[in-house]
Parts: sequence; C-alpha cells; structure tokens
Amino acid sequence: MSMLRRLISALAAASVLAFWTVSVNGQTAGAGGPGVHVTPSGYRVPVYGMSFVRNTQGRPGTTCARLTAPQIEITRLGRSVARAFVDSYPRSSVRAASGVTFEIVYTDAPGTGFLDAQEGAVLKRAMEASMAAWSAVLQGTVPIVVHARMEEGDDESALLASAAPIEFFAIDGRLVPSALAAQLTNARQSMDGDVEVVFNPTVDWDYAVNGVAAAGKASFVYVAIHEVAHGLGFLDSFSAETGELENRVPYPYDVFVNRGSSGRNPLTRQSVTQVLEALTSGDLFFAGPKSIEASRRSIRPLPMVKLYAPAEYEQGSSISHVDQDTYSDFKVGLMTPQDFGSGTDKIDILTLAIMEDMGYRLVPGAITAAVPRR
Ligand SMILES: [Zn+2]
Repeated sequence: MSMLRRLISALAAASVLAFWTVSVNGQTAGAGGPGVHVTPSGYRVPVYGMSFVRNTQGRPGTTCARLTAPQIEITRLGRSVARAFVDSYPRSSVRAASGVTFEIVYTDAPGTGFLDAQEGAVLKRAMEASMAAWSAVLQGTVPIVVHARMEEGDDESALLASAAPIEFFAIDGRLVPSALAAQLTNARQSMDGDVEVVFNPTVDWDYAVNGVAAAGKASFVYVAIHEVAHGLGFLDSFSAETGELENRVPYPYDVFVNRGSSGRNPLTRQSVTQVLEALTSGDLFFAGPKSIEASRRSIRPLPMVKLYAPAEYEQGSSISHVDQDTYSDFKVGLMTPQDFGSGTDKIDILTLAIMEDMGYRLVPGAITAAVPRR
C-alpha cells in the first residue's frame, strides 16, 4: 500500500485530524494552536506546512497551514545546519535567463535524502526545477540561498513539506524576509541562508519536473514552488489568538492585507478586536497596486485579490493564502491552501503580482507569460 494511502487510513482510523481543529475568534479548539519558530535574531515566524487531510465530505486531499509547536519541533527547523560547516554541504546553482540565481544547499546527512546515492539525483533534479520556476520570474542581484532537506517525521504528522524564512531584517518600518532584504539592499544580509524547506521522504511523491503528478501522488515540484513562496515572504504575521502582529512590526505582506475591496482599509491600522473579527470575515483582500491590476486582468476578475479568510479560522491556512473557492483553478491558484496533488511548474499571475507588491522585481514579461495556455 502506498504511503499516501497508509497515511490517509491512519488518519481515518485515528479520527483525530489535527488540521481540522479550528479556532473561532481566537479561541482555539482542540490541542495545539499555531506555533512560531524563533529566528537566530529573535524574530517570531509562523511556519507553513502542507499536510494530508480529509475534508468535511471525507475526501482525501492536502492543505497548507501554520504548523503547531509540536509540528515545528518535528521539522527541526533551524537546527540542522551548523553555520561553521555550511560551506561544506553539497549545493546546486540554478539560474534561468535573466532571473536571480538560486543556490540550493542540501543539508541532509551524507548518503541520505537529497544526498542518497540511489534517489538523490532525481530529488535534486525536481528541487532544481522548482527553483528554476522562481528564477524564471524573479530578478535580483544577490543569489537566494535555500536550505533543502528530507526529514522523516512521525506518520501521524502527515506532513508533506514545510518552509519558512530563515531570518528577517528591519527595513523602512517593515520586517523583511532575508531573501527580499538582500534584493532591496543589493547585499547579502543573512549568513545563515534565506529560506529553509523540509520535505517528508515517505510521501508518495511524483518528481515530474513539469509539476504534474500521476493520480494518487503529490507533485514534489508544485509543492516545493508553493512552500518556497512562503519562505520568500508570502506570509502574514497576524496572530489569531491576540489580533496583534507577531513582532509588532509588519511583514511586507501584512501591510497590504485589506478589509473589504472597495478602498484602502489596511488591517495593520485596525484595533485587535477588529483584526480578530476580520480574520474570519471572508472579507479580506490583498490591496497592493500590482495585485489590483493583476486581479482585474485574471481569469477571476475582482477589484482586489481575495484572501482566504473562512468563517471558521482554519488553523492558520487563513490570510497567507488566496481564497480557495475563488481561485481553485491552478492558473490563478498556486497560493490557494488546498489540493496540491498536481498542477504546473508555472507561477501564476496573482502570486507574481503579490511578490512584486512586496518588493521583488519581476523578469520582464513574467506576468504575460504566467498563465499557462491549455
Ligand atoms: Zn501554503
């Protein structure tokens, strides 16, 4: 029986679906609300991870959500790499035509994961394809360093992959993830790498480099592209427990989170009571100028990009994803929170526009080329 099926049956048998516990208006139901990882500089960062789940109709699928504290513990985030030895880890360098270079540092123990003598080459090729997809659309002068690793959790965690920015830097009143901070300042900021991404080796992955997976398998490339987006800065820091920002200073994403779509009404300027109410309002949008333009041009035209903010706050799937129902088509839905069995190696127009609003420069023509023609 495949690992996917084993996981799904294990989940069904246990009847304890951690990711369907919900918190309403900040009151967490069930065990373990979203946790945070603390960076070397002491900043609090939510960690996003994709898990196998069943939806309310019992259908198996995947969902990307903020990890709980025990899940963050399982990923051993920030603890696998000794700074003194980082130069000795094997790495790949990926660069598309006029894009930014991605340096992938494989931080597995020798002979395991990406460094496995048998399967390592296939895994590396898929990881390189995922970063090539980002390099094809993002410009930059400073290579983005991604630490990638296979980490076997326990079966019950059902995690496919997780990712986070490794460090943040305060720039112009924002707390900027190091990958973006480097591009904004044209200088390497973090000596610890920029993004950490961890994959579960026991998942029934499809390593096809075009991001399309066979039935019943999960696309490694599509999942990697999505998770690395969170590591590049596609993440909010509003706490569903308190309504405050995790670090008091907003992430670049936070400043564009908007209540309603009829005009600028930033969530960062509202009271904690208003924020807590807004997180489950179904009425949050991303209001950056590029995103507004892209939203109107997309196959799901709206005045602003609709964010995922369901009435039942879904363990942190909310806010850091675009709306599931509105954008379920992969042509606009790389950053929806659910269903990553299969997709594409293309990054969609809405994701690109949000990255640009946060401060990334796009490769010329990236948005025009973004929507796959099928
Ligand atoms: Zn996600």
